[in-house]
Formats: sequence, C-alpha cells, structure tokens
Amino acid sequence: MSYPIIEIICGKCGSSVNKMINIKPIKEIVRQSNGKCRNCGTLLNPNEFSVNFGEKSFSS
Ligand SMILES: [Zn+2]
Repeated sequence: MSYPIIEIICGKCGSSVNKMINIKPIKEIVRQSNGKCRNCGTLLNPNEFSVNFGEKSFSS
C-alpha cells in the first residue's frame, strides 16, 4: 500500500527539512518545523522552499 508523501526542501541549503505523508496543508507542515530549516536555520517562506511530491511504499 502506498501513500502520497510531501517533502520540504530548504531553498538555501537544499537539505530536506521535513517529509511526511501528505495529509496536512503545506503551511501546517512548515509550522511543525517551526518555520525554519533545521540545517541552516533559514526561515522558510512558503513561496520559496521547494516541495517534492512522491510516493512512499510501506511494504511491511
Ligand atoms: Zn537550509
């Protein structure tokens, strides 16, 4: 069974800030990350970070 996942990528350092099953609005995901990149501390603007959509399979 697979679920859509959403991955937040910091626009500055390119690190993955957050990745989760896409069940919440993007703004909610950013808020859970305190609106900051945990790697470089850049404040995330919902209009600036990139979002990767994909699917993650849970086979177990
Ligand atoms: Zn960053």
